[in-house]
Amino acid sequence: MSSKTRDFSLYIHIPFCAKKCNYCDFNSYVAPELVHPYLEALQKEILLYSHIERPVKTIYIGGGTPTFLSEIDLKTLIDWIMRHFRIKHGIEFTVEANPGTLSRQKLLVLKKLGVNRLSLGLQAYQDRLLRMMGRIHSAKEFEECFKMAREAGFDNINADVIFGLPGQTVSDFMETLEYLTAFSPEHISCYSLTVEKGTIFFEMQERGLLQLPTEEEERDMYHKAVKYLTGNGFIHYEISNFAVHGRTSRHNTACWKYEDYLGLGAGAHSFMDGCRFCNFPSPDEYINSLLQGILPVENKEYLDAMEQQAEFCFLGLRLLEGLDKRAFRRRFGKDIHEIYDRAVRKLSSSGLLEEDDTHIKLSPKGLDLANEVFAEFLP
Ligand code: SF4
Repeated sequence: MSSKTRDFSLYIHIPFCAKKCNYCDFNSYVAPELVHPYLEALQKEILLYSHIERPVKTIYIGGGTPTFLSEIDLKTLIDWIMRHFRIKHGIEFTVEANPGTLSRQKLLVLKKLGVNRLSLGLQAYQDRLLRMMGRIHSAKEFEECFKMAREAGFDNINADVIFGLPGQTVSDFMETLEYLTAFSPEHISCYSLTVEKGTIFFEMQERGLLQLPTEEEERDMYHKAVKYLTGNGFIHYEISNFAVHGRTSRHNTACWKYEDYLGLGAGAHSFMDGCRFCNFPSPDEYINSLLQGILPVENKEYLDAMEQQAEFCFLGLRLLEGLDKRAFRRRFGKDIHEIYDRAVRKLSSSGLLEEDDTHIKLSPKGLDLANEVFAEFLP
């Protein structure tokens, strides 16, 4: 397929939240006064890319909190996207939503506009943990939103949970999973907390005020989650992601399979035709650039073959099925062993990788030490 007809995924970033969570280092701001100038800039950016004739195969509106936008603003944005890109039939169209910002009306509007997948942040079942994280919703509110989403016709819902939280025990986390699976979501993302610089959690950690679970407890939570979810109808298909049959995230899977994606909005990253680029993270800089009619790109780099091969490998290894050796050959014209024979042999003999005729994948031990494995593929 030529690069002119190859499809790609589209990501739109909405960097606004009602309140900044204590652990959050995403590109998000409490700045309601910027919403309208930002949306106008986003329309300009969409227009600047509207010459792309390649079809869009998935759309993902993430944040921040996309559902912080009003129904009218969501409708204007989605209409604009649909009008200026060539959207394939039957795409997956995801919107991230925070339970504190949803209403029945907003859900109905999203559904009518073609959104067919919702990603809801639960994070934890225990309200004491939600408060400690600075979340704006309770478990009860999550529950109400989940039910409203079903009533609005959403039959593909992801819920995010976090483990390794301060004050969280293994049984707290299992209680969260039991509570969540009772609603039968189609997809669950389980991410391990990382305390990032610039967050309130980081400051608390510096002052010795953050009581994190031990590494053994954190790994225990992960292992128990894998066992519990795979025992309850979910397929573990990526290090941190679980889905019922046929409901893996097509958008994220495209990224892990090293396919092209275009990211629009402040701080959004793109990877198109071997070129990686990202926008100014600051909404002000992003808006100002577009007011001058200039694409708000902060960094752009063309990756050489070695860099692309490395990224192909460590992204593909995130998938439980592993990286596809035939896809590697199709893309780079070489057998993967010509490039990574030493690394694959070393990691296989340490019990971190497993290989068959078509794939190379992380072993159960490799899943716990994924970053060590990925490091071996760096150029
Ligand atoms: S809602 Fe999400 S993006 Fe917004 S502050 Fe909380 S964690 Fe960050």
